[in-house]
Parts: sequence; structure tokens; C-alpha cells
Amino acid sequence: IRGLNKQYEVKGEALPVLQDINLTIEPCEFVSIVGSSGCGKSTLLRLVIGLEGDYQGEILLNGQRIVGTSLNRGIVFQEHRLFPWLTVEKNVALGLLNSSLTEGQQRATVREHIALVGLQGFEAAYPHQLSGGMSQRVAIARALVNRPDILLLDEPFGALDAMTRAHLQQELHRIWQQEGITMILVTHDVEEAVYLGDRVVVMEPRPGRIRRTVPVGLPHPRERTSHAFTAIKD
Ligand code: ATP
Ligand code: MG
Repeated sequence: IRGLNKQYEVKGEALPVLQDINLTIEPCEFVSIVGSSGCGKSTLLRLVIGLEGDYQGEILLNGQRIVGTSLNRGIVFQEHRLFPWLTVEKNVALGLLNSSLTEGQQRATVREHIALVGLQGFEAAYPHQLSGGMSQRVAIARALVNRPDILLLDEPFGALDAMTRAHLQQELHRIWQQEGITMILVTHDVEEAVYLGDRVVVMEPRPGRIRRTVPVGLPHPRERTSHAFTAIKD
């Protein structure tokens, strides 16, 4: 991301939302983004996945401007956004809408990803039969089923209780290590950012800017403690 600027038009006036964002993310890296409400984190993710066309600057993948579907990505939001009238299996299969796999391959990869998030046996269940944590697992499976180059997560565990959140953080860490996917996590939870990220990007509001980037870089998540914490908070 190079020299990225974004503004919205509000009541005829330009509202700068992101200013001069520069960020290079390496393959298989896990980048956490923290910052107060309204600093433009979700807007940044929406720009990366191409949901907002109107911006200045460049968003590049391997040096090429991202156009249309050239970035194969998955996204998980705070609310799971599952379709209530579809089973777990059908919800996950939605992630394969533009896939060139045969029907048999699609079914196999859907089942494989349901197992990846620990939900084997729940293929035929409907969203109302699942807990919040299980629903978020389905959302993660749906985001990963097309084998994206990058997974973007916008406060994915924000609506979950502390126990479920801790569990899913570990699961996400395992999936990241196992699958070798680049991940960007937006979170309000500094501990979560440090636990999961190789690097924590700290943003500030009005207009949204990167205040600093803190490398975490210690081998085990549990060792990623106070020094990174202090650097982010101050
Ligand atoms: P939160 O942590 O609360 O989710 P955020 O960092 O994700 O906040 P954004 O949702 O990216 O923040 O919003 C950044 C700013 O842009 C806010 O001031 C918001 O009011 C404004 N904004 C977002 N979307 C629009 C829009 N479609 N039109 C006008 N202003 C918008
Ligand atoms: Mg947001």
C-alpha cells in the first residue's frame, strides 16, 4: 500500500479518513492493526478488497495494481454474516462461487475446511443451531475455502465471550501456521494484536494515519508480552 489517501464526502464537505498510508506486507506475514474507533481500519480493509474504488495512491499485489479479482482474498467480519436459511455446508460453499473446481472437488474442499475449523459433524446444521463462536468458525471456513492469498479479519472475535475468544485466537494461530496464509487482523484488543501478529500497526484518528509499527517477532505467542505492549500503548 503506497501513499494511500481516502476521503468521504459528507454533506458536501470532504472528510479525510485515511492519510498517506504506506504499508508493505510480506507473504505469510500476520499483521495486526489497532487504533481507536473511527480511525479508518475498516475503510482500509474495504479498500484492500476492492469494495471502495475511489481513493488516491496505490494498492499493489506483487508490484501489480490490484484490479477486479486479481487478489484472491477471504474476509471475516465482526458479525458472522451467515445465511440463516442455508446449512453450514452451504454457507461455506458460498466461498467457492467463482471456483473452477468440479462439484465433487468442491464438496471435498468444503468438508475439509469445516474440519479445519473444528466443526466436523455440523455440516447439516443451520446457523440458529450454532453458538456465536461456532458461527464465527463457519465464517472463517467460508473465507478460507477458496484458498485465498490473504485473509482479512475485521474484529472477528469482538462479539464473543472471553473464553471463546481465547480459544478461537489459538485456532486462528494454528490455521495461520498450518496453511501459510497472509493475514491482516483489525482488532480493538491490544493483547490479541500482540498474541497473533508478527507486527502491530498502530493507527491514529482524524485523519487516519499510521502512528507507528511495532514488531512483535518473538518465537512463541506467550512470550510476546510487555515490551510490545508498552510500545503500542504509549
Ligand atoms: P471502528 O473501530 O469503530 O470499527 P474504524 O477504524 O473501522 O472504526 P471506519 O469504519 O473505517 O473506522 O471509519 C472511519 C471514518 O470514516 C469514520 O469517521 C466514519 O464516520 C467515516 N466513514 C466510514 N464510512 C463512511 C461512509 N460510507 N461515508 C462517510 N463517512 C464514512
Ligand atoms: Mg471498523
